Amino acid sequence: MAKVAINLSTGSIQQEEIIVGIDLGTTNSLVAYIHPDGHPLAINDQGRGTIVPSVVHFPAGAQEPIVGTEAKDYLLTDPQNTIYSVKRLLGKSYRDLGEHATQLGYKVIDDNTEGLVKIRVGDRFYSPIELSAEILKELRLRAEHALKTPVNKAVITVPAYFNDSQRQATRDAGRLAGLEVLRIVNEPTAAALAYGIGLSPDEEKTVAVYDLGGGTFDVSILRIQQGIFEVLSTNGDTYLGGDDLDRAIIDYWTSDYQLAAYLYQNGSAQQELRLLAEAAKKHLSRHEEFSADFGGTLLPLTKTKFNELIQPLVERTIVSCRQALADAKLTPQQLDAVLLVGGSTRVPLVYDSVSAFFQQPANSSLNPDEVVALGAAIQADILAGNRRDVLLLDVTPLTLGIETLGGLMDPIIPRNSKIPTKAGRQYTTSVDGQVNLKISVYQGERDLVKENRKLAEFDLRGIPAMPAGLPKVDVNFLLNADGILQVEAIELRSNTRQAVEIKPQYGLTDEQVEQMLMDSLTHAREDVAARMVIEARTVAEQMLYQVERFVDKNSQYLTEDEITQTAAQTQVLREALETNVKDTILKAVDELESLTSPFAERVMNISIKQAMAGKKIE
Ligand code: ADP
Ligand code: MG
Repeated sequence: MAKVAINLSTGSIQQEEIIVGIDLGTTNSLVAYIHPDGHPLAINDQGRGTIVPSVVHFPAGAQEPIVGTEAKDYLLTDPQNTIYSVKRLLGKSYRDLGEHATQLGYKVIDDNTEGLVKIRVGDRFYSPIELSAEILKELRLRAEHALKTPVNKAVITVPAYFNDSQRQATRDAGRLAGLEVLRIVNEPTAAALAYGIGLSPDEEKTVAVYDLGGGTFDVSILRIQQGIFEVLSTNGDTYLGGDDLDRAIIDYWTSDYQLAAYLYQNGSAQQELRLLAEAAKKHLSRHEEFSADFGGTLLPLTKTKFNELIQPLVERTIVSCRQALADAKLTPQQLDAVLLVGGSTRVPLVYDSVSAFFQQPANSSLNPDEVVALGAAIQADILAGNRRDVLLLDVTPLTLGIETLGGLMDPIIPRNSKIPTKAGRQYTTSVDGQVNLKISVYQGERDLVKENRKLAEFDLRGIPAMPAGLPKVDVNFLLNADGILQVEAIELRSNTRQAVEIKPQYGLTDEQVEQMLMDSLTHAREDVAARMVIEARTVAEQMLYQVERFVDKNSQYLTEDEITQTAAQTQVLREALETNVKDTILKAVDELESLTSPFAERVMNISIKQAMAGKKIE
């Protein structure tokens, strides 16, 4: 809520700074704030509606782009200079996009230096961050215009499955748009807040948030406990949404009303048909029948026919819901609420199917277009300190850790940790005189780093040469409230420190995040077995290294017999390593150890005596 304060010395009225909530959507974006009456409200500047289509058009020759409904019109007439769905490109590389890159109406090019995609408009190149910033700027201007006050601070929402680089990109877009981004919030968390869930500290709820937008679908299961929003599971399809419902209608009309030839001859007819299909879809959310004239042909559509056309698409979302519920290990009865988000949830078949699947009426009492923005405004209000009873925390969806010997993932911040959070662990070197330590940061649930996603890699250089195992290297992870990670490594004996900036790597596709979480469940048993073999191998390799070094250095103190026996037993261990069988390896390690430890001890005593003898003890 915007509070008004009176400055006692000057008698002037000061309005407290407003923090807006922003839903930066793939198809549509909105900005909301807390009305002085205490309720969140989506901003409707000059009666233009609350929805700002996430479309940016660059008029030929003009300096400033056009954003929103006006820009959307150019999708028909000037597709090359009209950018839509830019959210799909945030924090991603050309490779991440794969086949989808060519399906866009504009040019996505591969910028080899950073690996992150750029978009070509005329002879200029734009990053998805810059384009998102244009949308945010428009939202900021609308808010400033409607509220008649400068707006410099915002909370922005992102899908729960967004990774670090996508979140960072969103934050950067905000900064470019002149907004200080106080918090990046998960969209399902915002939706729950808008429904008033999680606002009282002693509340405990489990909810499903079903979000079907223009081109994306996701479902998240959240557990809300003491103000902590935990994402238990998330699932979905980043290429399934309202556009596909439109496409189903278009395909039906085209084949049943023989439109193919007409569409072929009329360039703009295709886009007209698309708009007509969307109009039909929206109409059927409230009526039983639709019909319109299209170039002299009457195109009818009944609700029954429409439902039949979209049934397979809706069913795909239900499959995702089933999976999300299974991943969260819950039954529908254990859910306190099912919340509907996104314009496409207005389709009655969607409402019915979701309610039937979750065995309870879905909650759609709030405007599904606005609910995420409203929740973001509530989060902003909490950050502004206007709701002191609420403490909001999010959790990290994937484990963060570093690679240790043998390619194992050593988790530092486990998934579902409340954020912000800090954690660290101490490591050492594995080879004598090692002066560099490579630190590779990974994200994911698998035991082997090669199955996880590499976030960053850096060298801690300048470690003074010391025997293996002596340097002490602290690796600290700091995950801030937006889910952005900082990693620091310090060698304690020498105080060598690496100020590390993690370069946001290429983004994961959403399918990959889902896949990573899913894989961790399906491969859990294999992973444990693989980890045990690797651990055994690591012990064995270290043992071989130490024993060989020992024999090398101390051969003068060893008998001929001891040397040949050790060589033979070393060979046994090498062969055991070949088998890759944990028990065989560990058995050979034990044998080598019991063989060598008596004379290792003896030699140690000799060298200690010599060392003492060489020193003057006063
Ligand atoms: P996003 O979150 O991806 O930006 P939205 O939540 O704004 O998307 O959803 C946009 C989609 O909602 C579009 O496909 C639009 O056609 C659809 N939509 C909007 N209103 C209705 C309606 N009344 N009936 C059916 N679909 C609708
Ligand atoms: Mg949305």
